This record gives sequence, structure tokens and C-alpha cells, in this order.
Amino acid sequence: MGTDRETGFADQLAEVGRRVGQAMDDARARLQPTLDAITETASRPEVRAVIDRAERIMKLRPCLCWCPRAHPEDRGICEMLDAVITGLHSSSVLGEMDVPVCAPCAAARAARQFDDDQGERAS
Ligand SMILES: [Zn+2]
Ligand SMILES: [Zn+2]
Repeated sequence: MGTDRETGFADQLAEVGRRVGQAMDDARARLQPTLDAITETASRPEVRAVIDRAERIMKLRPCLCWCPRAHPEDRGICEMLDAVITGLHSSSVLGEMDVPVCAPCAAARAARQFDDDQGERAS
């Protein structure tokens, strides 16, 4: 009857399955040191600190104020990675556009804008 043949096929399948499983185990065993190294590296405090800082910087908005031109007298006040408000950037090439600027820059720009207005009116 066909029972023998079916049993043989089932054995063959089991053998193939066993070999595939063995190959997977081998591959995993070979990869394991690499995976361990990656996991270990990522969990080291100094690496965590770098990753944490990168994540924090990604969340920050950079100040896109053009300090030397927008407020040359107060160039050092910029909090470069802490843009909180959107200011208007006037450029001869791009026209006026909204850019994120930090609070100190916004204040300096406003003050300078005010001075410019005064100056224009006076002349
Ligand atoms: Zn600025
Ligand atoms: Zn700024």
C-alpha cells in the first residue's frame, strides 16, 4: 500500500526541516557575537549618552537667524538650538519668509528693526 511511501515522504520532510533548522541555528550562532556586540555597544553608558543627545538635538529647532546681518551688535546672544518663535526673514533673493529664531535673536532683531525704522524716519 501507499503507507510506506507516505511515511518515507514524512521522514524526508522531517529531515529537511531538521536540516533547515540546523542551518538557521548555525547562522544565528555565527551572528550572535555580532548581535551581542551591537547590543552591548548600544547599552554602554557613553554610547547611550551620545544617542540621547542626538535624539534631543533632533527634537530641537535650530535658530535660523542670520545673526551677523540681522543684529551684528549682539552676535553672541544666539541660542542656536533653541528656536522658539518664528520671525520674518527679509532677503533680497528670497523676499520675506518665516524662519524659526530663538528668543534672544528675536528680541535683538526687533530692537534693530525699531532702530532702522527710527533711522529711516530721521533721514
Ligand atoms: Zn540671531
Ligand atoms: Zn538665534
